[in-house]
Amino acid sequence: MNPDKTVIVSDLDGVLVDTYIELQWFVWDKYGEWIPAAALDRYVLCEPIHEHLENAIAGRRLPSLKEFTAEIGKACWDNPDYYRRARPNPAYWQALRNWPGDLYFLTARPKCVKAATIEWLTRYGFTDRLPRSVRHDDKEYVHLYFAKNKRAVLEVLHNRHSGCEIVMIDDRPETIKDLVDLRKTCKRLRPILVEYPWSRIEGLDVEPVSLDRIADSINKGRKK
Ligand SMILES: [Mg+2]
Repeated sequence: MNPDKTVIVSDLDGVLVDTYIELQWFVWDKYGEWIPAAALDRYVLCEPIHEHLENAIAGRRLPSLKEFTAEIGKACWDNPDYYRRARPNPAYWQALRNWPGDLYFLTARPKCVKAATIEWLTRYGFTDRLPRSVRHDDKEYVHLYFAKNKRAVLEVLHNRHSGCEIVMIDDRPETIKDLVDLRKTCKRLRPILVEYPWSRIEGLDVEPVSLDRIADSINKGRKK
């Protein structure tokens, strides 16, 4: 990755931010169970976790899947403190901090955690080291996108940075599948799928890459 010709667009949760461990601790505190690896074979997390807890918690109170999903939503996905507590994935975090080229963050987090997200990015050094990444002269945080539809944002960035390769790093295989399709029109887009137990889905012919290897290739590009 050459910083003069590459624009990095990074997902937050599961990529820059290790939110998953926070979910593990929430489930432990609430139900006294550690989510087993087998519950992670699908990206849609609540359903497989509920199934596995149901098996593990014989006789202990576990609400219905619907209630459990609402509970996780309230305590985790929509809770600013959940994101505040989370730590970065170290090697990838350091690689991004040292990246001198254009950098965007693109997340499907709900807008109600926007302030906590900006606070987090500030705390972990992105405003000091890479002011362009979250701060803009009109004081809007234009380099931080909250969007359920990541495809639409990437189309905009592809048009904005003509001549550059747009590297999107994400851990959700369904998103990567959609972006592979977008490459029909946005030819400079390169989607990278982060390797997790849930990375492989039907109809997606993309080899997942570990976060450490992605960090290496960011670092190598910088040193060229
Ligand atoms: Mg993610």
